[in-house]
Amino acid sequence: DKARVVVVGGGYGGATAAKYVRLLSDYKIDVVMIEPEAAFISCPLSNLVLGGSRQIGEMTNPYTQLARRHGVQVVRDSVSRIDTAARRVQLAGGPSIGYDKLVVAPGVDLEMTAIQGLPAAHASGQVLQAWRKAGPETVQLRRQLEAMPDGGVYALTIPEQPYRCPPGPYERACQVAWYFKQAKPRSKVLILDANPDVTSKGALFKRVWAEQYPGLIEYRPQHKVEAVDPREGRIRFEVQEDVKAQVMNVLPPMRAGLIAAQSGLSNLANNRWCGVDYLTFESTAARDVHVLGDAIQIAPGMPKSGHMANNHAKVAAAAIVARLSGWEVNPAPMLTNTCYSFVDDKQVMHVASVHAYDPKDRTFKTVPGSGGLSPGPTELEGVYAWNWARNIWADALA
Ligand code: FAD
Repeated sequence: DKARVVVVGGGYGGATAAKYVRLLSDYKIDVVMIEPEAAFISCPLSNLVLGGSRQIGEMTNPYTQLARRHGVQVVRDSVSRIDTAARRVQLAGGPSIGYDKLVVAPGVDLEMTAIQGLPAAHASGQVLQAWRKAGPETVQLRRQLEAMPDGGVYALTIPEQPYRCPPGPYERACQVAWYFKQAKPRSKVLILDANPDVTSKGALFKRVWAEQYPGLIEYRPQHKVEAVDPREGRIRFEVQEDVKAQVMNVLPPMRAGLIAAQSGLSNLANNRWCGVDYLTFESTAARDVHVLGDAIQIAPGMPKSGHMANNHAKVAAAAIVARLSGWEVNPAPMLTNTCYSFVDDKQVMHVASVHAYDPKDRTFKTVPGSGGLSPGPTELEGVYAWNWARNIWADALA
C-alpha cells in the first residue's frame, strides 16, 4: 500500500508542500490536497488592485497543473474536523480521508470579535479587511475607495504583532495614496497602528511617505482599536481619541486558521499560534501532523510571509518523505525570506533574510550578515518583484 499525505489548505504553504512531497518521493507517495477555493489568488501583489494599477486576475492561478503534472489529488472542499488519534480528516462535503502524515496550512484567522461592532460591520460589507484572502473582498474594497468623495479619509488600522505580512499594511497605505494623488488629491490616508512604530522597513516607508506623498499619508502609532461604528463612520481606540473616516479598513488581531484551533493544534501564545518542532515542522500537539505557514508560532526575526510559508513547506515535505521512506531527516534546514513592497505602480523596495536551524537551541536563527534592505525604491526592483511572484507561483503550482 502506498503511503498517503493529506494537505489541508492550498495556499503558499500547502500547495508547495503538496507538490514537493510528490517530487521528493519520486511520485511514490499519494498526496491529497483539500482547498475550498477554485483557484489560487495571491495576497502578495493584491495591494496593487487597491491602487488601481493591476487587476485581481493578474494574481490568480489555477490548481490544474498540480493535478495534471504532479498527480496531486486536489479536492475542492474544506476540512471540518481533524481526528489526530484516528489519523483522519473530515470534509465539510461528506467523506473522511485517512492519512499517514498530515500537513495543516490554513493561514490566519481574523479575530473579528476582539473589536466591538466589527463582526456586524464586516457582515454588512461596510468595514472590510481583504487580508485573510485576496479576491472578491479586495475588489470590493477598491470599489469603496472609488466611491469615496475627494477630501475623504481612508483609515487603515494595524493590529499588534505578530500579524500576517509585517510590511503589507504600509505597502497598502502607499498604494491607496498613489491612487488618491491622481484621482482625489484632497483625500487622506490615515494609518492607525497598534504598534509603537512602523514594524518593517520603517525608515524607508517614512521617507517615501514624506517625499512621494507629503500631506497625503499620516501615521499614528500606539492606536489599538476597541470599537467600530460604521453608521457614524467612527473608530474608537483604547486610549487615543476617536477617528472619523469614510472608508474603514480595520485589521483585527490575527491567530492561526480556525481549523488549527478546532483541532487543538494552536497550543501556544494563549492558543493563538501552533507550536512546531522547527526541524520538521511537526506539531508539538499531535504526532504525524505538520503545521506550516502563517499558522505557526514564529521564532524571532521570522516574518509571517508567503516566501517563508513556501520555505517551511519544503523543509516539512523533505522531513515527511524522509520519515515515510526510512531516510535520515536533514539535520540542518535553512529558510530564506524576501518581501517586496510597491510604493507606487512601479517602484519597489525589499527586505531579505536567511535563517539557519540551530540544533542546540532547536530553533531558527537569523544568519548574521545575511539579507538586507534596499537603499530606496527603484523600478528595477519592481521588475524583480514581479519575477519573484511568477517564480514562487510556478514553484508552488506548476
Ligand atoms: P494562505 O496562503 O492564506 O493559504 C491558506 C489556505 O488554506 C487558503 O487557500 C484557505 O482557503 C485554506 N483553508 C483554510 N482553512 C481551510 C480548511 N478548513 N480546509 C481546507 N482549506 C482551508 N508575503 C510575501 O512573502 N510577500 C509579499 O509581498 C506579501 N504581501 C502580502 C500582501 C498582503 C495584502 C497580504 C494580506 C499578505 C501578504 N503576504 C506577503 C503574506 C502572505 O500572503 C502569507 O504569509 C501567505 O499567504 C501564508 O501562506 P499560508 O499557506 O500560511 O496561508
